[in-house]
Amino acid sequence: MAVPFADLQLQYQNIKSEIDAAVAGVIRDNAFIRGRYVDAFERDFATATSVKHCVSCANGTDALYLAMAALKVKPGDEIITTAHSWISTSAMITHAGATVKFCDTDGVTFTIDPKAIETAITPRTVGIIPVHLYGQPADMDAIMAIAHKHGLWVIEDGAQAHLARYKGRMVGTFGVATTYSFYPGKNLGAMGDAGAVVTNDDALAERMTMLARHGGLVKHQHQIEGINSRLDGMQAAILSAKLPHLADWTRARQDAAAFYDAALKQVEDVEVPQAAAGRAHVYHLYTIRHCRRDALAKHLGAKGIQTAINYPTALPLLPAYRRFEHTAEQFPHACADQGSILSLPMFAEITRAQQEEVVRAIREF
Ligand SMILES: *Cc1c(COP(=O)(O)O)cnc(C)c1O
Repeated sequence: MAVPFADLQLQYQNIKSEIDAAVAGVIRDNAFIRGRYVDAFERDFATATSVKHCVSCANGTDALYLAMAALKVKPGDEIITTAHSWISTSAMITHAGATVKFCDTDGVTFTIDPKAIETAITPRTVGIIPVHLYGQPADMDAIMAIAHKHGLWVIEDGAQAHLARYKGRMVGTFGVATTYSFYPGKNLGAMGDAGAVVTNDDALAERMTMLARHGGLVKHQHQIEGINSRLDGMQAAILSAKLPHLADWTRARQDAAAFYDAALKQVEDVEVPQAAAGRAHVYHLYTIRHCRRDALAKHLGAKGIQTAINYPTALPLLPAYRRFEHTAEQFPHACADQGSILSLPMFAEITRAQQEEVVRAIREF
């Protein structure tokens, strides 16, 4: 039996009538750009994630840019982020005009090591962007303590962590702003590109809204120079239709992860992902470590089991960052992980039979 990495078609079939009605409504109302579907999703998502404001935008990458631009990041500013993430996090630091300072991960959770943050702080540091990678919250108590001590802001990159919790508290409520992606494969996914940035800060919310809409809240009244980063009505309506299912989907991912954990823990050479105490992981990805990762991936692939490597190269070692002349020794955990990580099929609708097939094939290897 072939096992896909994710199955967006199945998710659609399960809620087809709700999605089709949402799309039909937008077309009927001509509500393609902004309008009531966008307003409604912003309200619903703010409520679902326990924050005051949700500023929707075109994608999770823009969300990062909007947050930093609204915080008035400027050339010479240094911003600290993790060596292990999707490139949006670090690229937007550069595009916002600042300098990226990478930190290693903690060696266990795949999230940024707070001890490395302390070492990376200089008089030019203005902020920290932890990423709740794979759906596991970063160590927010330690990170917020460092931020307060040094007078730095924190933006949480929550692109992979919708509804994840740290010590019972929703991610996205720690930093000054938190960014989300609704890329189709994310835990809450649109049927195209979509994103948002949430905050409890009224002034920041207004500035991010202006920046996303050509620099003004009223047509032709451009207070600042902004960009065009809008969530379209179709995606907003689709996201609103999916949002009521997100808590159930999250539990299903957590159940599937618990099944993998129990079945794979005893298998030689397999290191299952570890959720640190107090961190409610939402398993956007279920990523194991294996010393013969490439051979294992090939074996699974031959059986029709799709896997992925998230991500094959630690950020500091990408050609895009050659200018920094970083070495693997500077980021020992992130760079060791790039050779051993493997993400297994994980989605809310995955069946036990599919998971058993994955486990059987790994045992066989
Ligand atoms: C997906 C993702 C983004 C970017 O989101 P897009 O909607 O694809 O632009 C940013 N950061 C992380 C950690 C992501 O996984």
